[in-house]
Amino acid sequence: MGVLDTFRLDNKVALVTGGSRGIGAALAVALAEAGADVAITAREPDLAARALTHLTSLGVRAMALDADVTRPEQVTEAVDRIIEQLGPIDVLVNNAGISFGATAVEMTDEQWQAVLDVNLNGVWRVTQTVGRQMVARGTGTIVNVGSMSAMIVNRPRWQAPYLASKAAVHQLTKALAAEWAPHGVRVNALAPGYILTEASPVDQPEYQPWCVEPAPMKRYGLPEELGPATVFLASDASSFMTGSVVVIDGGYTLF
Ligand code: NDP
Repeated sequence: MGVLDTFRLDNKVALVTGGSRGIGAALAVALAEAGADVAITAREPDLAARALTHLTSLGVRAMALDADVTRPEQVTEAVDRIIEQLGPIDVLVNNAGISFGATAVEMTDEQWQAVLDVNLNGVWRVTQTVGRQMVARGTGTIVNVGSMSAMIVNRPRWQAPYLASKAAVHQLTKALAAEWAPHGVRVNALAPGYILTEASPVDQPEYQPWCVEPAPMKRYGLPEELGPATVFLASDASSFMTGSVVVIDGGYTLF
C-alpha cells in the first residue's frame, strides 16, 4: 500500500455533526472525497438537504439527519439510524458548535449554559454514544473540532463560555485518547484559527485588525482548508497519532 492509499476511507462510515454548512459541510465533503459514506446531522432540514445533495453527487452513500446534539434522545436515534442504513460508524467528527459575544458581566446563566451544552456536553453525548460502539468493535477514529480559542483569548468579541468550552474539548480529547487507545480507538482534535463561515464573518472590515492583520499569513482560512487534516486524522495515515491537537491557524498563535 502506497502512502497516499493510507488516506483513503473507502468502505468506512463517517458521521459529521453540524455538517449542513460552514466547516462541517466542508469536512463532510472531504471525507466523502476520500471515499467514506457520510452522515451529517443538523437542526435545519433545508440546509442539511442541500448538503446531502452535494455529498450524494460525489458517488458515496450519504444521509442527513435532523438531530440536535443537546437532545440525548435525538442523538441516540440518529446514531441508531445511521448504523441501520450505512453500517457501524468508523469515523466521528464532532463539529457542531455555537458562539455569541457578551461580556462576562452581562452574560446570563442561560447563555452560558447554551454554549456549554452544544460545544462541550454535545461533544460528550455524541462521543459516548458512538465511542461505546467503537470500543466494542475495537476500532474507530474521532476528530473533535476544537479551536485556537482554547489557547488564546481571541477578539473582537468577548466570549468566555466559548473559550472555556473549547479548552475543555481539547482536554476531553486527551482524556479519551488515553482511555480508548488500548481499545483501538484514536481521538484527536483540530484547533482552527479564524475561518470564514456564516458564524464567523471574518471578511468584514471590522474584523481585519483582529483576525487578519496580526496573522503571520495575513489572511483568514477557508473551511476547505481544514478538510485534508481531517481526512488525515480520520484515516490510517495518522495511525500512530492520538491525543494530538492539530493547529490550523495560518500561524496566528505563534505570537
Ligand atoms: P456554523 O454556524 O457555520 O455551522 C455550525 C453547524 O453546527 C451548523 O451545521 C449547525 O446546523 C450545527 N449546529 C449548531 N448547533 C447545533 C446543535 N445544537 N445540534 C446539532 N447541530 C448544531 O459554524 P462554523 O462552521 O463556523 O463552526 C463549526 C465548528 O468549528 C464549531 O465547533 C466552531 O466552534 C468551530 N470553529 C470555528 C471557527 C471559525 O472561525 N469559523 C474557528 C475555530 C473553531 P443547525 O443550525 O441547522 O443545527
